[in-house]
This record gives sequence, C-alpha cells and structure tokens, in this order.
Amino acid sequence: MVELTTGPRVLLRRLRALMAEALEPQERLNRIVKEIAQNMVAEVCSFYILRNDGVLELFATEGLNPQSVHQAQLRLGQGLVGTIAASTNALNLTDAQAHPAFAYLPETGEEAYNSFLGVPVLRAGRTLGVLVVQNKTKRVYRDDELEALETTAMVLAEIIASSDGGWLERPGLELDLGRPISFNALGFNEGVGLGHVVLHEPRIVVTDLFNEDSAAEIIRLENAINSLRLSIDNMLERREVASEGEHRDVLEAYRMFAHDRGWVRRLEEAINNGLTAEAAVEKVQSDTRARMMQMTDPYMRERMSDFDDLANRLMRQLMGHDAKTIAETLVKDAIIIARSMGAAELLDYPRERLRGVVLEDGSATSHVVIVARAMGIPVVGQVKGVVAMAENNDAIIIDGDDGTVHLRPQQDVEGAYAEKVRFRAKRQKLFKELRNKPAVTKDGVDITLLMNGGLLVDLPQLEASGAEGIGLFRTELQFMIASTFPKAEQQERLYRSVLEAAKDKPVTFRTLDVGGDKILPYFRSTGQEENPAMGWRAIRLTLDRPGLMRTQLRALLKAAGGKELRLMLPMVTEVAEIWTARQIIEREVKHLSRFDYVLPSRVKVGAMIEVPALLWQLDEFMEAVDFASVGSNDLFQFLMAVDRGNSLIADRYDQLSPAFLRVLRHIVLVSERHQTPVTLCGEMAGRPLTAMTLIALGFKSISMSPASIGPVKSMLRELNMAQLNQHLNEELDKHNEAHSLRDSMLRFAKDNNIPL
Ligand code: PEP
Ligand code: MG
Repeated sequence: MVELTTGPRVLLRRLRALMAEALEPQERLNRIVKEIAQNMVAEVCSFYILRNDGVLELFATEGLNPQSVHQAQLRLGQGLVGTIAASTNALNLTDAQAHPAFAYLPETGEEAYNSFLGVPVLRAGRTLGVLVVQNKTKRVYRDDELEALETTAMVLAEIIASSDGGWLERPGLELDLGRPISFNALGFNEGVGLGHVVLHEPRIVVTDLFNEDSAAEIIRLENAINSLRLSIDNMLERREVASEGEHRDVLEAYRMFAHDRGWVRRLEEAINNGLTAEAAVEKVQSDTRARMMQMTDPYMRERMSDFDDLANRLMRQLMGHDAKTIAETLVKDAIIIARSMGAAELLDYPRERLRGVVLEDGSATSHVVIVARAMGIPVVGQVKGVVAMAENNDAIIIDGDDGTVHLRPQQDVEGAYAEKVRFRAKRQKLFKELRNKPAVTKDGVDITLLMNGGLLVDLPQLEASGAEGIGLFRTELQFMIASTFPKAEQQERLYRSVLEAAKDKPVTFRTLDVGGDKILPYFRSTGQEENPAMGWRAIRLTLDRPGLMRTQLRALLKAAGGKELRLMLPMVTEVAEIWTARQIIEREVKHLSRFDYVLPSRVKVGAMIEVPALLWQLDEFMEAVDFASVGSNDLFQFLMAVDRGNSLIADRYDQLSPAFLRVLRHIVLVSERHQTPVTLCGEMAGRPLTAMTLIALGFKSISMSPASIGPVKSMLRELNMAQLNQHLNEELDKHNEAHSLRDSMLRFAKDNNIPL
C-alpha cells in the first residue's frame, strides 16, 4: 500500500507527533507551518496571532522572508489577513494582489505569490489568529483544501487556548484571548463586585482532538446524535412542557437544529479530516458561532445560544461521564456567569464567596435576581455574548449600579473600581452608624422603614439594616426555589424562624403570590395562559384552590402562636375577595382552637393595592382591611399598561409621572380618612428620590430591600417634609402635562442639600 503523504488526516497525524516532541516553542511553530505547506503543496504557509492590541503579528512562516517573523504586522481589518480576522470569513483568491484589501508588506517578499487561501483561527467564535497558504501559480484551492486548512486552524486554536501560556510566550506579548472587553447592559441589582469568573456551566474541554479511525468515529457521532434527538423528543412529549410556551419554543428550535442536514454534514466532514467526533462538534460550533455573531438579525443572534446549548448537549453525549469540565474549587471572589439560572442554583453557591452574578438573559424581576437582591449580591443582566467571551478564572468587575461588566479589565479600570468599592464601604459605614438613629424628618415626622424579605437568607438583614420590621414577606419565594411543594411542616418552620428572628418587630406575611411570572415548575396550571400577568394568579388561584391556602394559613397560625399575626392578600381586584379570604382564615382559626393549639394573640388581615379597579372601591376596601399596602410594581404595570419585565419599555414611563403620583396621593388620603394604616412595598420605596416623593405624598411607612434602608434614612433625616409636600401638591394640583416630576424633585433635593 502506498503511504499517503498529503491530505488532512496525514497532516493531523504529523501535528500530533509535533506536539509530543520536546521542542522550543518557536521551533515547534516553524515545524508546524512547514508541515502544513508541504502537505498542501503550497510554497508559503504563515501563521499570524492576534495580539490584545488588535494587531496581527506574523509568528511563523514557511516560504516568506524569515526575517519578517514578529516584524510583519497588520491591524484588524487591514490587508487580507486583517480582513479575515475581522470578518471571521475565509478568503480563497486566485490573484491576491487584485483584491482591494491587499496590503503590501515589503519585508515579507510576498509579491511573488498569486494565489492565497486564508482562514481564521477561531475558538468559541472568537478570532485568535489567521492561517494562510500561498502559491506562485494562479491556482484555485479546492473546497476540501479549505476544509483541511480550517481543521488545522481549529487544532491550532485549541493548542493556543489550552497552552498555559508557556509555549507561545514572549515578553511583552499579550494574546487577544486576554483582551479586555467591556459590556454595557442592565443593572439588576446595585453594588460593585471585583473577582474572578466562574462559569455556571463550565465549558467542556476537548482533550482528544485526533481520531484513529474516521468510520468508527462517524458511527459514534451518529449514535450520539440519535440519542440527542430522542432526548429532545422525549422532553417535548412531557406534559408540563406542552403547556409552557417559551420552553417549548426553545426545544422546537433544538429539534430543528438537531435534524439540520447541513450541520450533520459539516460534522462528518470534520471527522473525515481526522478530528474526533467531539473535536468536530467544537470546530463546527465555533464556525457557526463566528458566522452568527456577524448577523445583524436579532432573532438569529438569539438563536445562537440555542445552538450552543445543543452543541454542549451533543458533546456531553459523546464524552459521557468522562466529560472533563473545568471544574475548579470555587474561587474566593466568584462572579458567576450564566446564560440564565434558577434561584435555587444560586443558593447552592456559598454566599461568602460570591461577589456578583452576570446573566446573558434575565430581567430585573426574575427569581434569581430577587434572590440575589435578598443576598445583597450585585447583578448585571442582558449581557449578550458574555458566556462565550469569558474563561474560568478571568479577572472581572461588575457594576450593578449602571449595568457595566469589565472582563479582563486593564489596570486603570481596576484601580478606579477599587476606589469605588472603598467609597461604597465608607458609605456603608455611615449607614451603619445611622442604624440606631431614628427615621425622622427634619421637621419631626416619624417614618417607619420596613424591609422586604422572603427567605431565610434575609433574616440577618433585619438586625443589620435597622429595619423596624418586615413590611412584606414574600412567602412564594420558598415555593419558587423548591423542587416540590414545601410541606406544611417546612412552611411552618420557616415562618417560625422568621418570627423568632424578628423578636418584637412586626412581620407582614403575604399569602402565596404565584402565577404570572412567578412560576412553580412542579405546579401544573390548567394550560398555557395568553397573558399570565393578568391571569390565574395570586389570590385568584388560592381562592380556587382553598386546600393550598388552608395549608399555608394553618402553618402561619401555628407558627405565630402567642404572637400577633399579620396576613396580607396579594392582587386583590374586588373587595368581595377579602371577605371570602377572611372567612377561610376564620375557619382555620376555629379549626385550630378545637385542637387546643396556641393561637396568635391577634390576627390582622391586610391586602395589597395592585389592581387599578380597587381605586374606585377604596372606601369599601379600607373598611374591609386592617391595613393596606401599595404594590407599586404591579399597580404601575396595570395602570400604565406596561409589562414590568419587558426591557423594551422599561424606561418609557416614569413612576414619578403626575398621573401615578395623583393615584398614590389619593390612596393616602382615603386611608387617612378611614384611619387604616397604609404602607408601600414596591421597588419605588427603596430609591432615595422616589422614597422622598412618597414621604412628601404622605406615606408614613414604606418597605424596601434591606440595603436601601440606610440610603433612604440618610435622605429623610435631611428632608423638610412639609416644605416638599407643599411643593409637590402645587405640582399635582395644577394643569400638569409633564412626563415626570423627576427633575423637579431632583432640583428640590439639590437646593435643600438632601443626599440621594
Ligand atoms: C408589587 O407588586 O409592588 C409588589 C411588592 O409585589 P411583587 O413585586 O412581589 O409582585
Ligand atoms: Mg405585586
């Protein structure tokens, strides 16, 4: 049999042998380009590496002037090589010099060559360098030659990325892999975090690149693809998926990709060129990713993450239990990067090591964000592309105040943030000193500052923040992070711990507010809802499922034995719902007293004002409750018809608009008339400027996330409430077409030295 001397399989075998030899780094690269040139019957083979300053530096060449190595340089986008790197597309040219992008580098002596084939060296869709072959004759490179060069480039990419710096290192050289990148996205929870990347789903590392037997490898691929398709079909058939819109759409997209013939053909081609099945998946995925990143169609860019997921699933299938992940023991200053994650998954990380969370998706009200807020961890969301760009252990800074993420930051950025962290720490110290000082305005009005909570992790904050109680305990959070319905005893245990931690401070427990965006994965509702925010949720759901409500009420009544129990009903639409709930509560009290349980010393029943219809039944409402609480998040959403989770319209209307403020003022007036205490527990209570406005409207009690108590208290202690009340009333009483009173409030704060 004649031993083949060309072809991609032979080339890969040679490369593997070269990797195993003990060679100096430069020598190894020289030999690699020589092998490629020989194998492809090319006179020239050159390898350029993209440095982190955006310059492509010639690192090794066979055929061009050897003196030009490390001397020849092109910027991204400059010349043919720069064009390939910038566009991540290959160039196959018969007459290179006729191409408009051709840039002549005299030191290389490349004017003698006519035909040119260049491919990007990609990893996870990012350009690391460019690999080129050239010939004197005006020849056309065939598709299989292009494919072979791409395969070789993929191997080079893996070598560069997995080398621990050693073999490519040269003093002063920083590879593009280490290039700083900044993202401007959305801040979901304030605070600054400095630390190191921990990928929530660690990237799979392909260690076996070269196959011994393509035919066997193709069978392995086929089997893996078949089980992948089966598992997707199975998931689609599961009943709970059938009823969940978005989840189903994603799986349908997976199914479409998994049956995509082009994809399978490209995988097989890569295997035929000598790669293992898993390396083929990595290569094809990287090419696809690079192509999709160039697309401007947002829908296609969104689909990129579906494709990534699919490729990862396939790789896991192929590598089975041996799938080596970059599993590291959690660094001390972890910043978790995830496409999306569940609230429970976040709680799996030890709190003391978490410095921040970065999400590609998510919204400010997603569960994981609510939990992160409770834990006081900064969160930045909607950071598109961050998962692919980040590597485990990369240095990273996140700023939840303005939604920026700095990956591999430069020293000056790091310095500036270290300064910001010091400044924040100083402010925190100030707030701590305020902890035991009274929350009273300059003109002597007492304001009750309460905190929102919902999990065990919140409890230490009650003491630390100086809150006067818990104004909103979101009982649904326990249900949302569980994998099955929390048992009655588990519920009771949580409520008891809360009341114990609160000592004599009041706690307002809100009954289950599930439905809408608060989904319990284990609870099957009747079917898909077109508009879940206005659907079967909160009190509507619990009144229809009294068993659920009774269990919770019983747990609450038992936990509060001997103490006052404050219950609050969510999403009430008409007063009759309050009376029905009261009957259920009374029945439970009677039931427990028959069995000699110690009952609460007193049960107070309140309700949330979140649905605008109640605004025209406020007199009846105030008579039906012992206390009221405005859920400004939902009230604003329904009043303005603006979805609270939709980033497209998040900033369109302002909670400080005259319309919304008039509504809030009206609620305060009616509550005063009926002497029914009212508080406000939406996010608006937690920002000093909006909190200042609420106080001016007459709210004497507001409830917010614990981290906001300090800043809000520091604001109100400088506030002359009567003066601002007059100013605000003037604004609201006159004909006012302003979009918002924000500027007017800001001016007031500035003129009166009120810290915001
Ligand atoms: C609100 O709607 O303002 C509120 C406090 O409830 P949640 O945010 O839990 O819906
Ligand atoms: Mg609400």
